[in-house]
Amino acid sequence: MTTSAGNPVADNQNSLSAGPRGPLLMQDYQLLEKLAHQNRERIPERTVHAKGTAAYGTLTITHDITQYSKAAVFKPGAKTEALLRFSTVAGERGAADAERDVRGFALKFYTEEGNWDMVGNNTPVFFVRDPLKFPDFIHTQKRHPKSNLRSNTAAWDFWSLSPESLHQVTILMSDRGIPKTLRHVNGYGSHTYSFINAQSERFWVKFHFKTLQGIQCMSNAESDAVIAKDRESSQRDLFEAIERGDFPKWRFCVQIMSEKAAATYRWNPFDLTKVWPHGDFPLIEVGILELNRNPENYFAEVEQSAFSPSNIVPGIGFSPDKMLQARIFAYADAHRYRVGTHYEMLPVNRPKSPVHTYHADGPMRSDAPKATDAYYEPNSFGGPTQAPRFAEPPLQITGDSDRFNHRDGNDDYTQAGDLFRLLKPDHQARLFQNIAAAMAGVPEFIVQRQLVHFHRADPRYAAGVAQALGVKNRAAGG
Ligand code: NDP
Repeated sequence: MTTSAGNPVADNQNSLSAGPRGPLLMQDYQLLEKLAHQNRERIPERTVHAKGTAAYGTLTITHDITQYSKAAVFKPGAKTEALLRFSTVAGERGAADAERDVRGFALKFYTEEGNWDMVGNNTPVFFVRDPLKFPDFIHTQKRHPKSNLRSNTAAWDFWSLSPESLHQVTILMSDRGIPKTLRHVNGYGSHTYSFINAQSERFWVKFHFKTLQGIQCMSNAESDAVIAKDRESSQRDLFEAIERGDFPKWRFCVQIMSEKAAATYRWNPFDLTKVWPHGDFPLIEVGILELNRNPENYFAEVEQSAFSPSNIVPGIGFSPDKMLQARIFAYADAHRYRVGTHYEMLPVNRPKSPVHTYHADGPMRSDAPKATDAYYEPNSFGGPTQAPRFAEPPLQITGDSDRFNHRDGNDDYTQAGDLFRLLKPDHQARLFQNIAAAMAGVPEFIVQRQLVHFHRADPRYAAGVAQALGVKNRAAGG
């Protein structure tokens, strides 16, 4: 054993004291160092997705989609190392895994053209479509400033005032709101991204990872029983499955929409509260994702892992989705704050391909770059330069710059209703009960405002919830 400076340690059991009963001597630097280090053993937890579980794996491309994307990661037969971090959204780092919540499904692919991060969820849509509302939404999921308790009233007040949330609320309150394990969830990129092919043609794309373990869920009562015994049920299940060689797999698929089709499609393809119905845009097979290796050190490889939708590779691009545009900034910024300026130099975040930037200095710069006169750009000393062959084709944008009311004329009910209607009657009955349970303590006027949204999605939806709550269904004129 040595100190952190490499000096041998003669005694790691007894502190240095004046006489056997103390007091202690200031010169016991190893004691001071241990206490000081302990004070610094945590980094700020993520504001959202704080509780996470991750594993490494491999993406294998089994089908040819090079007609849509030139990304090297999609070459038929390509195998790419990946890291997948699952999480709950609202709970803190000590929260129980088995709670009703969306599950994060954040992927980092260490491709030969740099890291591609697909920072998705186990749901294809989200609660809000304008990022200006994201911090407000998250406040409703976190603790009340006075009571320090989670507030059903805040959640339903916000949701009932934000009809665009109805689709995601319906998924959250359905059986899929409490996955049995992380191996039994689908992953969705949720946002629309773009693909660019070798001919510089652009396509809009959505990413889907379908679990090959099958979807499995828990009821409220089952999750209560699990949480009573085990707050780390998801972490335990995934870790132990991988340790025993039972490697979970997902079928990786995409949906593709041409730029021409997007211009006239009945749904705004860049609205994060909407799916692209499979009937219009069928799933196209791409490959298989397998998780097959647990991290060696949770803090270094999971807590310090940093995913950002800003990480894209040639052949994959962004889209006008307003939520995606905001996340491109917000995720990388969260890691600069949470981990540090040079978070991408940490082994878990570092690309496997070479990195050539002109970023300099800052806390935690952990490499020792070779001396060079090319420390700015342009320079005359052979430093790295831009490569125009990676430029994307121009994207045509029209219209006035303004703050457009994103609720004006937007149909927030049809897709939520479609989901409700595809649930079997027993599943619908559990949906009603789950909503009633989640509305405990919520004032009647908020409940009635929310019933109107359920009613507009499907009158049977509002009627069922009202009955489960034992309240009048004023939405139906009752
Ligand atoms: P389809 O009948 O082609 O697809 C239905 C989809 O619903 C399947 O992907 C199925 O997932 C999924 N599903 C089933 N139960 C639930 C649930 N409780 N929570 C979330 N998803 C569920 O219909 P459409 O494509 O026309 O979509 C109809 C509705 O299905 C949408 O409004 C949307 O709410 C939901 N959905 C659609 C998706 C899409 O990308 N089109 C993706 C996920 C959900 P699985 O195949 O795993 O059983």
